[in-house]
Amino acid sequence: MENKKFPLELTGPEIPMVRFDRVSKRYGDLTVLDALDLDVRANEMVAIIGPSGSGKTTVLRMLMALELVDEGVIYVDGTPMTHMPKNGGLVRASKSYLRKMRENIGMVFQHFNLFPHMTVLENCIEGPVQVLGMRKDEAEQRALDLLDMVGLADKIDQYPARLSGGQQQRVAIARALAMRPKIMLFDEVTSALDPEVIGEVTQVIRKLNDKHDLTMLMVTHQMGFAREIADRVCFFCEGKIAEQGPPEQLFDNPQNERTIAFLSAVL
Ligand code: ADP
Repeated sequence: MENKKFPLELTGPEIPMVRFDRVSKRYGDLTVLDALDLDVRANEMVAIIGPSGSGKTTVLRMLMALELVDEGVIYVDGTPMTHMPKNGGLVRASKSYLRKMRENIGMVFQHFNLFPHMTVLENCIEGPVQVLGMRKDEAEQRALDLLDMVGLADKIDQYPARLSGGQQQRVAIARALAMRPKIMLFDEVTSALDPEVIGEVTQVIRKLNDKHDLTMLMVTHQMGFAREIADRVCFFCEGKIAEQGPPEQLFDNPQNERTIAFLSAVL
């Protein structure tokens, strides 16, 4: 594969839930991720910030196997996701292996992407029944619990078009959780919302961070959102992490000149 020898499985006292090990991605001449190293601990909430085009969304898309790596290996819970072991080394993952690994991961998008012809409850039952093969009554009970958790117990029979943006986004979060992921990805989940409903979505995500056994990775342009809910903020620049740290450190006392320039432009 490459010069570096990648481990078949990660070992050690603390196995990260996600590891990008020298991951590169190119589109033609454009290098979008440049030998990226990124570890996310189990139950950690990491925010990714940075200028447009710095590769933030590509990180999430790779974890969802929507993009393939050119170089490097991504590990999920210690197991390579992008590659599978063969003859003592690693070879590229097959489509079915990728699909299986992707079951560990849930994603919530900027534009909700709910099924418009299904009610709120049906939206949350479809995946568990069709993809995971869960019994319908079991899937329904779990969906009801999750919809209650996101504060939408009274909306289960509504169609998405009848809900506000904040409500739709909370359904999207419940729907992703219904698949029992180990990792949740949030891509600009508050960007399409009116300012007055951002709080209700932030509150739900904070609740997940407190109560659930979940590792979370979010891309956001909203620094207030990142500051409020992330354990760690990574500032991306040209496909690499230029600086990272706890929110108070990165926002109040940035060290890298590119972080300083970016924050002074957006804050
Ligand atoms: P960010 O989320 O930081 O704005 P992205 O990860 O979305 O950045 O994209 C990084 C760069 O890769 C951008 O310049 C974008 O235009 C380019 N890019 C993303 N997807 C494709 C694609 N499928 N084909 C060509 N270029 C792409």
